Amino acid sequence: MKTSKKEGRPGLSRLESAISVVEERTARGKSTLAIFDLDGTLFDNRTRTIFILREISEKFCAKAPGLSKAFEAFQDLAAVDYSLDITLDRLGVKHPAEVAFIKQEWAKRFFSDEYQRYDMPILGAKAYVERVHKAGATVIYLTGRDVGRMLVGTTEVLRLYGFPVGVAGTMTIVKKEFEQDDEIFKKEVSEYIDRLGEVVAIFENEPANSNILQARFPKAASFFVQTQHRPGAPALAPGIHKLKDFRIK
Ligand SMILES: [Mg+2]
Repeated sequence: MKTSKKEGRPGLSRLESAISVVEERTARGKSTLAIFDLDGTLFDNRTRTIFILREISEKFCAKAPGLSKAFEAFQDLAAVDYSLDITLDRLGVKHPAEVAFIKQEWAKRFFSDEYQRYDMPILGAKAYVERVHKAGATVIYLTGRDVGRMLVGTTEVLRLYGFPVGVAGTMTIVKKEFEQDDEIFKKEVSEYIDRLGEVVAIFENEPANSNILQARFPKAASFFVQTQHRPGAPALAPGIHKLKDFRIK
């Protein structure tokens, strides 16, 4: 069918046209902003989870025998789901006490500075963010990670993978408190962002956040990265463009 053959093209050209808008506004001395979520948008977190599970299986093999056994045969990252319960079930880890223990050890590590370096950037993400930045937009990393446990690791990993960070034309906005609701946080912060300049592009992987930000900045190009997201998410609002990754051919 004609439409399915062309399916990827509009998304690709829209990625480039967002950069053109930035260039055009910059040439006129105007301030533009591009909002990038991190988890599931610029980074694939499945590798962080697998690294952590592997570490737990080695460090506590007596308390996590099912997990240790799972790693004898593990070979596919696709086993890692958004939900750790589903991931462990797929790996054959069924004993409730073992599951509870692993979840506790996983959470200590997953939400910490030290383990973010095991995230894997989404294909083309670094090159695209760099282009948006060079075109003159302020790159805003807007993430539900929190300042107390994850800001240092967030900055470190952005620098490690070559994303613009800490320099002029960049901004990292994290939550003050971990317990704060993600959607409310992003809604509140968008009021502040709105005062800084024109938002030209938004990148998210959570449908709820995507919808909130698109409604708040209806003139911006809104992109939804198809990775993983919370179960039971709302339908994506019309006009939000789906992407598999950030590559521009
Ligand atoms: Mg996300």
